[in-house]
Amino acid sequence: MNAFAYTRAADVATALREIAGDGAARFIAGGTNLIDLMKENVERPHRLIDISRLPLRLVEPTPDGGMRLGALASNTDVAYHPEIERRYPLLSQAILAGASPQLRNMASIGGNLMQRTRCAYFYDTATSCNKRAPGTGCSAVTGFNRYHAILGMSEHCIAVHPSDMCMALAALDAVVHVTGAGGDRAIPLTEFHRLPDDRPELDTNKRPDELITAVALPPEGFPQHHAYVKVRDRASYAFALVSVAAALRIDGGVIVEARLALGGVAHRPWRDRAAEASLRGERASRAAFERVAETLLRDARGFADNAFKIALAKRAIVRAFTQAAAR
Ligand SMILES: Cc1cc2nc3c(=O)[nH]c(=O)nc-3n(C[C@H](O)[C@H](O)[C@H](O)COP(=O)(O)OP(=O)(O)OC[C@H]3O[C@@H](n4cnc5c(N)ncnc54)[C@H](O)[C@@H]3O)c2cc1C
Ligand code: SF4
Repeated sequence: MNAFAYTRAADVATALREIAGDGAARFIAGGTNLIDLMKENVERPHRLIDISRLPLRLVEPTPDGGMRLGALASNTDVAYHPEIERRYPLLSQAILAGASPQLRNMASIGGNLMQRTRCAYFYDTATSCNKRAPGTGCSAVTGFNRYHAILGMSEHCIAVHPSDMCMALAALDAVVHVTGAGGDRAIPLTEFHRLPDDRPELDTNKRPDELITAVALPPEGFPQHHAYVKVRDRASYAFALVSVAAALRIDGGVIVEARLALGGVAHRPWRDRAAEASLRGERASRAAFERVAETLLRDARGFADNAFKIALAKRAIVRAFTQAAAR
């Protein structure tokens, strides 16, 4: 690990002033991802700006009937917040499917959004990786790629975004609020993470000098019909091979609205609004869910070790919608 300076920001203005113009500085919140990356020499900031004491921890209602999650609220506090459990149980389930209790106590909402891929080559500085060292190549394309993308990848990078929480936030149409030298911005969760294209080193559409302040949840939380299905190699403490956040609004057995975000398959939560819309007016049935799963995976492509994910994702979609409908 390289030597680095450490400062603690007392307010948002100080945090923004400290990061402005310093490309080698990083915010640190819970530290559960950044410190690991620093130990492996993947991230080498010369300065850490501790934002963990900023007054951004509240989980509170918004005037439009939704909820606002402060960027520094812990994953645990959000998952077990009574209003989140009651009105947004899909989000609680997704958060609790991730990591371990100890990690969730430390992990922040902002840090979870910004966590980096778990591609093994990204962590191994002895290998080529366009995300870690642009222009060096991608070891995963011809290497071990069991955990990699089947949708939205490019020849430069086939990594996936690893978060569970973000799949639920994407299905719920959450919005990320950021602030920086250029002012405040609101970024839909579904546009927050980037597909690799030819710039795999850029994970998100947030600028480096912007601070995430909150995530806003719209009023509709699908408390009646929802399911989070996570398929992984171990029953706990493992990242998803495939995950599905599914939500339905059903009236008299007929689907009024369907939402689905697919995880473990691309470098952002994968949504297909046309496929979701095709369920409107259908009866909630296995046949309808199988049809939409086929549509969602129509452009999927597997590599040597992960082609099984295409069939796995289809089955996980059918299971998630079936569970959601049955609730
Ligand atoms: C062993 C292990 C298992 C795990 N398993 C899972 C799992 O199954 N599912 C899952 O979803 N996650 C899992 N995680 C990841 C975990 O959820 C993340 O490490 C955590 O959410 C990161 O939050 P943090 O506050 O600790 O971020 P930090 O490590 O402090 O920061 C991470 C990044 O976010 C940036 N950042 C943090 N806050 C802000 C902000 N407000 N504005 C702008 N930038 C910010 C930092 O600069 C840094 O680049 C696991 C982690 C570990 C170590
Ligand atoms: S998949 Fe992406 S993160 Fe993994 S080695 Fe290739 S470029 Fe690096």
